[in-house]
Amino acid sequence: MKRKPISLLAIFLSASFLFSGCELDTSTDSVSSSNAKSETSIATSIEESESSTTPQEILETTEQTTSSATEAVTTTTSTTTTTPASTTTEPDVEITEFSDEMKVHFIDVDQGDSTFIELPNGEAMLIDAGETDQADKVVTYIYTQGYDTIDYVVATHAHSDHIGGLPVVLDSFNIGNFYMTSAVATTSIYEDMLNAVDESGAAVHNVMAGDVIYNEANLLIEVVAPKVIDSEEQNNNSIVVKLTYGDDKFLFTGDAEKSEEDGIWTNIKCDVLKVGHHGSDSSSSSNFLKKVEPSYAVISCGLHNSYGHPTDDVLKRLDDRNIDVYRTDLQGMIVFTSDGSNISVNVNPSEYTPPVTTITTTVQQEQNTPVEDSGTTYVLNTNSKKIHYASCSSVNDMKESNKAFTNDYDQAIADGYKPCGRCKP
Ligand SMILES: [Zn+2]
Ligand SMILES: [Zn+2]
Repeated sequence: MKRKPISLLAIFLSASFLFSGCELDTSTDSVSSSNAKSETSIATSIEESESSTTPQEILETTEQTTSSATEAVTTTTSTTTTTPASTTTEPDVEITEFSDEMKVHFIDVDQGDSTFIELPNGEAMLIDAGETDQADKVVTYIYTQGYDTIDYVVATHAHSDHIGGLPVVLDSFNIGNFYMTSAVATTSIYEDMLNAVDESGAAVHNVMAGDVIYNEANLLIEVVAPKVIDSEEQNNNSIVVKLTYGDDKFLFTGDAEKSEEDGIWTNIKCDVLKVGHHGSDSSSSSNFLKKVEPSYAVISCGLHNSYGHPTDDVLKRLDDRNIDVYRTDLQGMIVFTSDGSNISVNVNPSEYTPPVTTITTTVQQEQNTPVEDSGTTYVLNTNSKKIHYASCSSVNDMKESNKAFTNDYDQAIADGYKPCGRCKP
């Protein structure tokens, strides 16, 4: 079901401006509600009423809502009275579960990342906004979906292909909450972003692994990384967001590389993975993919980008695990829809084309003739750390998931591979 163009929070914000004429700080609402998930929605509405009205109205509203809350939730009274701790039970309050569709839009921002999420509670979330030259595209796309408020904006890390578009986005929408890490940068785009955040009036949250962005009913949005700030590599400061809606789970990784991936020990098994760092080989290690075990993977990158993203190695790792891969460089906008138990995608998975080296290997194996010139493709066993000629008989016995291919013998040796004793490359 299509969401209303303006979310409840938008109305709430406008009301706040009308009544009080001052800036509304929603930070405490968001954080406190996340820390107290057992509170009823009535309790939340009391908080909101209080913060959006004049003192006189607060008194009136509090009286009204208190009495109605007492009627509706009689158990609240019993748990707040002096009941012995041993007999305290959870309030028997029925929590309304969201039942609307959630849409996750991986916006095609060329070489960069930008993910817009229509949450099932009617609110909106944006993770990154691509390079500066993609800002108008991101703004137009979100407007086109019918939103003028973004309740949660996450800047994963300070690189321009993620935050470049944010100043314009922050300027174009009502912004509720803004999330970043405490990692600082000295770039002008980072400064521009901070200024825009300031001007937007958004509540700013510095987050790390363990923080919660939203937790109500059957919707949970958590930060699962970073655990520590990496002073050397901004990519490893990427905010990694896990979003759980009912049974459906999404993981958004920013540009997290292997060392940040390795530091995640919470359960990150997810249905959909936004592949880290645009499909660079520095991310999506086999170990990480084993932990996430996604059915779907999305790679956001520019067509024929100069970084060589995504790398063949990552594509092969995903293919070996039978993960359906979607790519913004080949397929444009990728939109996932979830109703909390079923996931659908607006396009078919992209076709996996094995790298040329793999085809060469097959031909060589068929001919069964050792080729030993310097242009030979070598097969690496990533498990035993051995390097083989493609024609080596041990290659046939190797598990597909352990195979990697290279033409660069010296690099492989430098990476710690030892020549096979049989084919002696
Ligand atoms: Zn980056
Ligand atoms: Zn990036």
